[in-house]
Amino acid sequence: MPRYFIWTIGCQMNKAESQQIAGYLDSVDYQTATSFSNADLVVLNTCVVRQGAENKVLGTLSLLKGLKNEHPNLQILVTGCLVNSDSQELKKRFPHVDLLFKPGDYPELIAWGQKQGIPMEQRLLRHSRNDGWMAPSPCALIPIIQGCDNFCSYCIVPYRRGREVSRPAGEIVCEVEELVGRGIKEVTLVGQNVDSYGHDLPGHPDLADLLNELSGIDALARIRFLTNHPKDISLKLIDAMASLNKVCEHLELPVQAGDDDILRAMRRGYTVERYRELVNVIRRKIPQISLNTDIIVGFPGETEEQFEHSLSLVQEMMFDVVHVAAYSPRPGTIAWREYQDDIPAEVKKERLNKIEELQTAIASEINLQLQGKEMEVLVEGRKKGKWFGRTRSNKLVFFEDAGDWLGQLTRIQIERTSPWSLGGEVKKIIN
Ligand code: SAM
Ligand code: SF4
Repeated sequence: MPRYFIWTIGCQMNKAESQQIAGYLDSVDYQTATSFSNADLVVLNTCVVRQGAENKVLGTLSLLKGLKNEHPNLQILVTGCLVNSDSQELKKRFPHVDLLFKPGDYPELIAWGQKQGIPMEQRLLRHSRNDGWMAPSPCALIPIIQGCDNFCSYCIVPYRRGREVSRPAGEIVCEVEELVGRGIKEVTLVGQNVDSYGHDLPGHPDLADLLNELSGIDALARIRFLTNHPKDISLKLIDAMASLNKVCEHLELPVQAGDDDILRAMRRGYTVERYRELVNVIRRKIPQISLNTDIIVGFPGETEEQFEHSLSLVQEMMFDVVHVAAYSPRPGTIAWREYQDDIPAEVKKERLNKIEELQTAIASEINLQLQGKEMEVLVEGRKKGKWFGRTRSNKLVFFEDAGDWLGQLTRIQIERTSPWSLGGEVKKIIN
């Protein structure tokens, strides 16, 4: 049987799409390979959100060029945000690639497969693979909205993934039912802007409606969703989170900057005060909420004072997790056209380190408060001889035990904490 290997970098959306492609290849009798070198078909799911990611993609593409010279039958497929509308130009740059298809453009993949004699059918793509590559996991990522309409000035995503297109709710519910039938207990609904789900569908169902529908699936234990745009979060969605037991108390709410002038230049569509009010409402209605955010440092023109505003917002908000990135100019974006990338790399790095240091201290303090508590953990797999899983608040928990805990919903007594994870002992199985 032919073997495939999928290489993925980037966001959860890429991971979700790679799971879909894996499910697809499994269903047409491909087997997984353990590396590029023993694969007959390679899929590169790429990210170009920052130059660092793009460099890794280009490095991997050149490695594959060598491999293709040695094994001319190797088939190389490329998807993700590297693929732009001018695929002719990419084909010229990478003649060793057999197919370039835009993120989520499965008709293109199917047409190619059929030309190769692979019996691919559209309906198969409705079902993600549920085992996350390694061992069967009880968690699945479900893409529910493709693309982004926002055009934040620094971001390449809308140019590569196009405008927002939501999947019909009925199709998503069917997919989740099917996955739950195969043992999945937790789903994460993903989109670049997941909280604007449904505005393009007939009748305009929204994310709160979808959460309500999915909550009705009996054997499904947990629902998450990411990533949210602060300007699109509705009170109805917050109320749905607060009232639906299966929806986890965890929210990804990228703020990007703590300064109004920078937020305006980023074209984010909210002010710091509006963000603060939103977080206050969320915390009032869902007191156990665990909040993650993203911050960009070194945006063009960011003064020391403006950066300090981001730093003090991080201190004030007490986020559970902060993903911090140094601004990376992306050709074609508004910021790339209109502003000079004038913050030196060392200053960006210094600012990034300052936020990371502060956040490490905050996360350490937040997690320390969990010591001695009993928390619900869904066990996802094993790493370095230990079981691991996540709490409803998305905290990573490790424990050691000789039993088989995979896929079990358990209660764990937290005995050790660090800024990044927790450690504990199993108390009981919930299901
Ligand atoms: N849609 C989400 C939002 O509104 O925040 C985020 C999606 S974006 C692909 C993921 C993260 O990458 C962003 O939150 C941002 O912090 C970061 N990012 C995007 N473009 C960037 C750039 N040009 N330089 C540095 N970081 C960037
Ligand atoms: Fe990029 Fe902004 Fe869209 Fe997020 S909301 S994907 S940062 S353009």
